[in-house]
Amino acid sequence: MKESMRYFRCPSCGAFNRIPEEETRTPVCGGCKKPLDRSGAPQEVDERAFAKAIETSPVPVLVDFWAPWCGPCRMAAPIIDKLARAMPGSLLVLKLNTDEAPTTATRHQVSGIPSFVLFSKGREISRQVGVLPPAEMQRWLIDAASRAQA
Ligand SMILES: [Zn+2]
Repeated sequence: MKESMRYFRCPSCGAFNRIPEEETRTPVCGGCKKPLDRSGAPQEVDERAFAKAIETSPVPVLVDFWAPWCGPCRMAAPIIDKLARAMPGSLLVLKLNTDEAPTTATRHQVSGIPSFVLFSKGREISRQVGVLPPAEMQRWLIDAASRAQA
């Protein structure tokens, strides 16, 4: 992990903002000047925003491929939310609704949902198909993220 710098994606314009860890005021996005959310909460993206984010993110990106009708996806949501908020600024978590993103789902060979894919510098590092219990999900993510840094 980068020492004291954290990176936050602006949900409004998609720009990445580098923010010192010790910054206490609510920073605004350098691109669009809207306040930045530093909670680390998962961000909903469409296909275009997804493509831009995985290509330009300075930190590993966990993508939750899901759909509203999928029961296991709803079970996974609070687990992913908690993991995301535990690593604000050092991991970006995106949610992509596969019903609205068929091209991206096909391109990334998402055959079952939920599917969790960790990307680093635009490249897939690891994939988990189906939801695991929280502790196992966390173990998978930490292992995948550590390989992303290498
Ligand atoms: Zn912005």
